[in-house]
Amino acid sequence: MERLTGVAASPGIAIGVAHVLSSRVEIQERRIAREQVDAEVARFERALLETDTQLARIQAEIAEREGDDAQYRILEAHRLMLSDVHLVERARRLIREDKSAADWAVRKALDQIQAVFERIEDPYFRDRKSDVALVGERLLRNLMGIGDSSSPEDAPRGSIAIAHELSPADAAQLGRAEVTAFCTEGGGRTSHTAIVARALGIPYVVGVEALVPKVWSGMTVIVDGFRGEIILDPDAEALRVYEARADVHRARAHRLAAIRDVASQTLDGIPIHMAANIEMLEEIPIAVDLGAEQVGLFRTEFLYLERVNLPSEDEQYAHAVAALKSVGGRPVTFRTLDLGGDKLPPSVRIPSGTNPAMGLRSIRFSLHREDVFRIQLRALYRASAIGPTQILFPLISGVAELRAAKRICAEVRTELGAEGIPYDPGVPLGVMVETPSAAMIADLLAAECEFLSIGTNDLIQYSLAADREDEHVGYLYHPLHPAILRALRAVVQASERTGKTVAMCGDMAGDPMLTWVLIGLGLRNLSMAPRQIPVVKSIVRSTHIADAERLLAQALTLSTEAEIEELVYGAMTKRFPLELTEGDEARSATG
Ligand code: PEP
Ligand code: MG
Repeated sequence: MERLTGVAASPGIAIGVAHVLSSRVEIQERRIAREQVDAEVARFERALLETDTQLARIQAEIAEREGDDAQYRILEAHRLMLSDVHLVERARRLIREDKSAADWAVRKALDQIQAVFERIEDPYFRDRKSDVALVGERLLRNLMGIGDSSSPEDAPRGSIAIAHELSPADAAQLGRAEVTAFCTEGGGRTSHTAIVARALGIPYVVGVEALVPKVWSGMTVIVDGFRGEIILDPDAEALRVYEARADVHRARAHRLAAIRDVASQTLDGIPIHMAANIEMLEEIPIAVDLGAEQVGLFRTEFLYLERVNLPSEDEQYAHAVAALKSVGGRPVTFRTLDLGGDKLPPSVRIPSGTNPAMGLRSIRFSLHREDVFRIQLRALYRASAIGPTQILFPLISGVAELRAAKRICAEVRTELGAEGIPYDPGVPLGVMVETPSAAMIADLLAAECEFLSIGTNDLIQYSLAADREDEHVGYLYHPLHPAILRALRAVVQASERTGKTVAMCGDMAGDPMLTWVLIGLGLRNLSMAPRQIPVVKSIVRSTHIADAERLLAQALTLSTEAEIEELVYGAMTKRFPLELTEGDEARSATG
């Protein structure tokens, strides 16, 4: 048994067998005799054929389940690699000329191709090396006659995915395969992969050093997404303790679910509106079931991520209409594309610059590629005829950007009008406050839009200059930093002065440990990962506004995040033992 620590990124406890992804097959250098060459080439050809047959089978299963979707086309590309000269011809040559054994020849060919990819500056093309690796490792496993167990689509139901890194698309795919937990060496608590994990209710631990070499597929592991731990090959006592803890958490979730239909208001009768953050349509019924009053943040870019082509206007329209229908007449706030940074779609090239988070990301990309932006806006405006729609612009850093986005919206409205296509002319347009500059000029932005929504995940990363993806600076990334509390206070005050609604949709909104801080700040609209709604609502219903305001006032007198955390966590765990049974639990849901 071995216990490894990382960072809790999505709460929950899972016990199961590991499924190691992208594990590199270990190959020893091996030469063959001249007379073995033909047999070795034949072995290589058989493995190629077997690999193609496997990929074709997976493709057929996908086609049956989901039609000709992006995943299907990615597999098509993977099958094409099996006839790629760089891989296949190079391997054949190494067998014939170098007398390398077939597996050693494939490994050398793969390493050479990977080295070329490594030298590419453009991160999009550089990242394609993982596709080559996926196909190459599958080919090697077939050559070696070892099981097919390392890609997301093959993860056994109930297993625990172990990997160096997982992309948001991998996480979505693993969720569909009914994997029960994720654990990775890299990643961050507020990475988009973590957001997907929380949305799916899958425990996730990130930043576990030297994890992959210690785990093999089939090993029993425990993932503790509350404390950020993973236990390899647990003994009977550990299994007993964690099974008991998992039972406690299941019972607690069950108790909290009982308050689903009661109003979200404080003991003084002040409503605190609960909205859901959504990435995929499938989450909406779950969110409604958990008590979401509306969709406060629809991260539309997820529609762009798992596919090789851009979605058409009609497809985006159908997607938005499906969201509006699924939420049953409640409003949906569609955030326009937040591509770039860690969300790179295969369909468009986004120049990354030297620091992608500060580069051509989000609204900057949309204004740069107006053609892509217009198609999305047309789809959203058309959908507005079906149900209450709001449009939210991400990563706004100044009024000029807001005006540019609004101008394009106005042009799209005129266009639709001229074409006789129905839309709601009063769709509220909002601004995400997630850059320090937006927080500082929240009043100027509020004056020119209908609502503000605070994105604390990015606001914290940019304010504290601590990359939300980088576990090495995770210790600096703190929602209770005095600078963050001051920034939030300024934004709420700006909204009060301008009379414009302010919501919070960053992960802070769903952290029950912070509910009093947010209510104390004056926030009355919280949008969060759906699974956080019951616990936050439970706290709201036992809250007097004055108590929350007092706690916040005290927090604002302190100088460091550690002191503020001690104060806030101490007060909250004492007051809400039922909701906050474990000290670490809430933090795992925090941005
Ligand atoms: C945020 O930054 O807080 C936010 C909600 O946006 P995202 O997490 O999608 O960047
Ligand atoms: Mg953001």
